[in-house]
Amino acid sequence: MFCEQCGAPIPEGARFCEQCGAPVAQEVDVALVTPAEPEATPVPEPEPQPVHDSQMPRRGDAVPRTGLLPVRLIIGTLILLGLAFAAYWVLANL
Ligand SMILES: [Zn+2]
Repeated sequence: MFCEQCGAPIPEGARFCEQCGAPVAQEVDVALVTPAEPEATPVPEPEPQPVHDSQMPRRGDAVPRTGLLPVRLIIGTLILLGLAFAAYWVLANL
C-alpha cells in the first residue's frame, strides 16, 4: 500500500497515512476488490484447455491399463488353477 497523497508506504490495516494523514480506507477497499476479480477470471479460462489436452493422453493410458488388467487376472487364475490342480494331483497320488 502506498499513499495517494505523498506516496509513502502504508502498512496494511492502516486507515490514515503516517506521513500526510490522508485517509487510506478507499485504497484498502480497491486493493481488496481488484485482486479478487483477476484471480477469478483467469482460473476458468486456462483450465478447460489443459483438461482437453490431459483427457486425450489419459484415454490412451486408460486403454492399455484396462487391457492389462484382464490379462493379469487370467494369468493369476491360471496360476491358481495350476497350483490347485498340482495340489489335487499330489494328494490323489498319496
Ligand atoms: Zn501520505
